[in-house]
Amino acid sequence: MTPSKGYAAQNETADLAPWTFERREVGAHDILIDIKYCGVCHSDLHQIRNDWFPGIFPMVPGHEIVGIVSSVGAHVKGFKAGDIAAVGCLVDSCKTCSNCHDGLEQYCLNGSVGTYNGKGKDGLPTYGGYSSNIVVREDFALHVSDKLPMAAAAPLLCAGITTYSPLRHWKVGKGHKLAVLGLGGLGHMAVKFGVAFGAEVTVLSTSPNKEAAARALGAHHFVVTTDPAQVAAARGTFDFILDTVSAEHNMAMYLGMLRTNGTHICVGAPSTPHQIPAFSLLGGRKSVAGSGIGGIAETQEMLDYCAEHNIVADIELIDIKDIHTAYERMLKGDVRYRFVIDMATL
Ligand code: NAP
Ligand code: ZN
Repeated sequence: MTPSKGYAAQNETADLAPWTFERREVGAHDILIDIKYCGVCHSDLHQIRNDWFPGIFPMVPGHEIVGIVSSVGAHVKGFKAGDIAAVGCLVDSCKTCSNCHDGLEQYCLNGSVGTYNGKGKDGLPTYGGYSSNIVVREDFALHVSDKLPMAAAAPLLCAGITTYSPLRHWKVGKGHKLAVLGLGGLGHMAVKFGVAFGAEVTVLSTSPNKEAAARALGAHHFVVTTDPAQVAAARGTFDFILDTVSAEHNMAMYLGMLRTNGTHICVGAPSTPHQIPAFSLLGGRKSVAGSGIGGIAETQEMLDYCAEHNIVADIELIDIKDIHTAYERMLKGDVRYRFVIDMATL
């Protein structure tokens, strides 16, 4: 077995606290990564609090992992000790279904395996990146260019791919008006990608004090959604809304901001179901869609795109002991724009 230490929640009401545990042996197709940085995703908080479904405890969260390969199994071809390697939200899938064949492992028809709060094919729980190391199949590990700072690259593994993938799928770019709803971890990456792809980008935010930062990220417009006059002025405007909001929100109001044939893409995952009045869709032939993370090949494509275009997250590096303060600030929308844990503080 491979000894590991990390921060775990022992149940859905417990705070995270130091915990030592064991990972599997490094198998022939596995690599062992010495974790340097791990991003803090709102999904970590949803999951340790059982917002979505009863979780598997003890739970070590974290699926924005970057580190250095410390050893590789006998049959590993793509990595060697000393390489920078990353792990996102997935560590396995069936690799035989039609979605896996199409590079959509996140939609594996037989169930993909989450980096944490999941069960591997060996039946054992998976543990995430708020920890010293991880053992992962090489075909679920990613390469990160040494041109990118490792800490700021970590959030690309979830916030990055989760926004890159739908923007690519819907071919959002030049000539499109894109609204990014919610300026947090996912939202700020959506702004960067939307701008890079040539769209006219508007941030829809409940936080007036984020305007200057939104514009610094490249956003062309900023709408404060708690101001009825600004909301009225934005009616019928956008081709796409990329919705990154983590809590319940007024879907009818936002759908009113789409133009005819517009699409509202949900990536945020509030624990309560959306309320969508039929009239907010049929008046203007509007669509509500969703998108989940991204497949392995597309995640590598996104990382390579970021290396080429010098795109990383704007981060606040934290000591792992400050994780609860980070969660409290995240719940208040006070994220600028991704917390990343410096694993040297473990
Ligand atoms: P985050 O950093 O906390 O950002 C969420 C932002 O939403 C906040 O900063 C805030 O922005 C806005 N917001 C929060 N509560 C709101 C409310 N009640 N009404 C309107 N806006 C509100 O979270 P994140 O890490 O980006 O994650 C966002 C969501 O995406 C979470 O639910 C997460 O679980 C989910 N997620 C989904 C996937 C996927 O595969 N689809 C992957 C990763 C994460 P403003 O201050 O600008 O209003
Ligand atoms: Zn995430």
